Amino acid sequence: MSFLTLTNIQKSFGPVQVVKNFNMTIEKGEFVSFLGPSGCGKTTVLRMIAGFETPTGGTLTINGKDQSSLKPNQRNIGMVFQAYALFPNMTVHDNVAFGLKVAGAPKPEIDARVKEMLGLIKLDHLADRFPYQMSGGQQQRVALARALAVKPQVLLLDEPLSALDAKIRVSLREEIRQIQQQLGITTVFVTHDQEEALSISDRIVVMNAGKADQIGSPFEIYNTPATRFVASFVGTLNLIEATVVDPNTNRIQIGDQAVTLKQSVAAHKAGETISLALRPEAGSLSDSARSDTALTGQVVSAHFLGSVIRTRMNVGGNVISFDMFNSPGTTPPQAGETVTLRFMAADLLIIRD
Ligand code: ATP
Repeated sequence: MSFLTLTNIQKSFGPVQVVKNFNMTIEKGEFVSFLGPSGCGKTTVLRMIAGFETPTGGTLTINGKDQSSLKPNQRNIGMVFQAYALFPNMTVHDNVAFGLKVAGAPKPEIDARVKEMLGLIKLDHLADRFPYQMSGGQQQRVALARALAVKPQVLLLDEPLSALDAKIRVSLREEIRQIQQQLGITTVFVTHDQEEALSISDRIVVMNAGKADQIGSPFEIYNTPATRFVASFVGTLNLIEATVVDPNTNRIQIGDQAVTLKQSVAAHKAGETISLALRPEAGSLSDSARSDTALTGQVVSAHFLGSVIRTRMNVGGNVISFDMFNSPGTTPPQAGETVTLRFMAADLLIIRD
């Protein structure tokens, strides 16, 4: 049985439905990210799990128990927010001890647990500091320790890294993942940063306008996006219009060039327009050994980005970007030059709207 289940969860604020039939099961110990643009409903789903918002429909269970009659403080959930939200007038020790004190735990037990938690986040030496005496990254680690101190059954993280600078964000996300795995705690992480979600999750839910567009492992989400929205939100991607030539042989046409897809086209009719996705890193001008498909077009522009030269070419009205790896002796293609882009047929994916 799954640990956390959301079945047909809905939420409306007045006449506006911001979460629509949200379904998801999360296993014990899993790290799941809700990824999506601002306003898609990620935080609202998280707040319903925490009990801060009441669903207008659907069922939510944790460890088999319906949560609808339980208040936030009865759900045994730990939460970390974007803003550090520490108690400013309390030391690090007292912040981490807070939940245990409220629960009436004896002092020796509290002190031992605080010591353990500060060891976990490697801040034992700052126990007597106040929040204003610490960096944003340190404060967020204390917020994590405070959330974990009460041994919650689920940890909810609402954009906990977005107020931090880029370098700290990367190191802290690795630390969060390592602590999560060490404790085996079921975790839901909200973010609008696709790299963050891809790097730390067991599974990702890509949310679009109040519903889950796709749920899958980071590899599935990145390599086989199910919808146009997922394809464009997760990474840079070429969207290419094509026409079905023969559904039986998976033959399609891009501009005036025919290509045979690896994926089945059987669900479409001859003459139908379909959308295809191709990642910039999938194609190459020179690596003919790994290729089984090619498109010829005219170079529109070539930008040197350091390790790669991002090149745009026009193929029958579709502008396709691809990355050429830079090495000594590489000559960037010139605008107007005719080039042939080679890739694997399996890299060209049909996506639905
Ligand atoms: P962000 O990344 O910007 O926080 P999000 O995906 O987490 O976005 P939510 O905060 O869940 O989005 O908000 C979803 C929608 O619900 C938004 O349009 C928001 O304006 C609306 N909303 C959220 N809370 C309320 C509320 N209490 N009353 C009315 N509308 C709300």
